[in-house]
Amino acid sequence: MRCPSCEGRESRVVDSRDLDDAATVRRRRECMACGTRFTTYERTEAARLVVSKRDGTRQEFDRDRLAAGLRKALTRRPVADGAAEQAADEIEAALRGEGMTEVPSSRIGALAMAKLRELDQIAYIRFASVYQSYEDLEALKREVDTLYDQRGHAEP
Ligand SMILES: [Zn+2]
Repeated sequence: MRCPSCEGRESRVVDSRDLDDAATVRRRRECMACGTRFTTYERTEAARLVVSKRDGTRQEFDRDRLAAGLRKALTRRPVADGAAEQAADEIEAALRGEGMTEVPSSRIGALAMAKLRELDQIAYIRFASVYQSYEDLEALKREVDTLYDQRGHAEP
């Protein structure tokens, strides 16, 4: 378990608790080298989690692919290194915590968008613009307008 900040391998657990899904333990860790605190989700057994896609096909949930999509949206945005990985882990933990063995891809997309919205609004828009749940550009435009209003036009 590498530190997301310095990639150091030594860390100590500062807090530990079971999630709703008893197979998942959430741990707060502190890097022994640089003191950065980060969160890990550890599973005693990786239960099968299948994603059902819009076209009716199914495939195994791929956490790395989700992380790659998030990382792409967060490219050159001012977020901590490892933010995409952490978000992917949290999304996976949320999905597994729901106790489902099959989830629609739209659910994962919605969770990813919620995470990105917390992290960085530009990344959120990037992701939303390619995410297929947006049936039309009007929906995206409304989202942009809403975000813009919330920020009070403070930033370009
Ligand atoms: Zn470190």
